[in-house]
Amino acid sequence: MAIKTFPLRFRWAKMLTSEVKHLAFEKVDQEDFNFIPGQFISIHFEWEDKLLRRSYSVATVPGKSDLIEFSLSFVPEGAASQFLFNLKEEDTINVSGPYGRLILRDEMPQRYLLAATGTGVTPYRSMLPELSQRLTANPDLTVELLLGVRTREDALYEDEFLEFAQQHSNFNFHLHLSREALTEPKPHEKKGYVQSGLKELHLDPKKDIIYLCGNPNMIDEAVVLTKEFEFPIQQVRREKYVS
Ligand SMILES: Cc1cc2nc3c(=O)[nH]c(=O)nc-3n(C[C@H](O)[C@H](O)[C@H](O)COP(=O)(O)OP(=O)(O)OC[C@H]3O[C@@H](n4cnc5c(N)ncnc54)[C@H](O)[C@@H]3O)c2cc1C
Repeated sequence: MAIKTFPLRFRWAKMLTSEVKHLAFEKVDQEDFNFIPGQFISIHFEWEDKLLRRSYSVATVPGKSDLIEFSLSFVPEGAASQFLFNLKEEDTINVSGPYGRLILRDEMPQRYLLAATGTGVTPYRSMLPELSQRLTANPDLTVELLLGVRTREDALYEDEFLEFAQQHSNFNFHLHLSREALTEPKPHEKKGYVQSGLKELHLDPKKDIIYLCGNPNMIDEAVVLTKEFEFPIQQVRREKYVS
């Protein structure tokens, strides 16, 4: 069956880091775009006489924006990277979706562990309003968000997560920096990878539900870890950013 696409008009973009651009689009047809935070869309575009398709997690924070937003990590020579980085105001792109099952379900664990590398953190950004409701409704719930990037400069949406942590005492934001010297780390900063950060949080299959998003190697290593701790498969949800 042919995939149904719809047009989006490019509205604005801003650089979040030297390599990551946040892009915002508006829907131009009259139909609603009902996404569940955590889902992604696919862009369909022509590049060097080929029709290509690439996926991007929706970064929109419901209630804060009516636009369809995502962030793109630039891959040198990458087809979609070049296509999307060079969009001009009023250009339209063709999109399908939303897709994906990396969403919050109707359940109440004691703890959510949300781990990401780079732009893999955008699904969690869009979950913030729902997380806020759950954290407020249930004081026994804790949410640990772990973001892995190379250096401080790569820490996309850091201010938003820190602000959310200030507003919710049972939400913690951990920034894992793999290539920063960290002589004077801030309280939320740690040297190393997200995988070791997960281990330090004393994983417990009786309390935890784990979400993993982004770099496939991070996800594979984290899954091995969850197996060591005997997590049932349905408590470990993942989305690999593969080309
Ligand atoms: C479900 C899903 C959601 C995704 N969400 C996002 C998102 O929110 N933001 C985002 O930036 N990306 C996301 N991705 C990845 C995205 O779809 C593209 O794969 C990515 O943007 C590269 O596409 P490209 O056309 O620019 O590069 P391509 O033309 O596909 O690749 C060019 C070359 O670079 C290599 N390459 C591809 N990706 C990388 C990489 N990350 N690092 C180093 N080399 C690479 C390829 O192997 C190839 O050799 C997601 C992927 C999936 C499956």
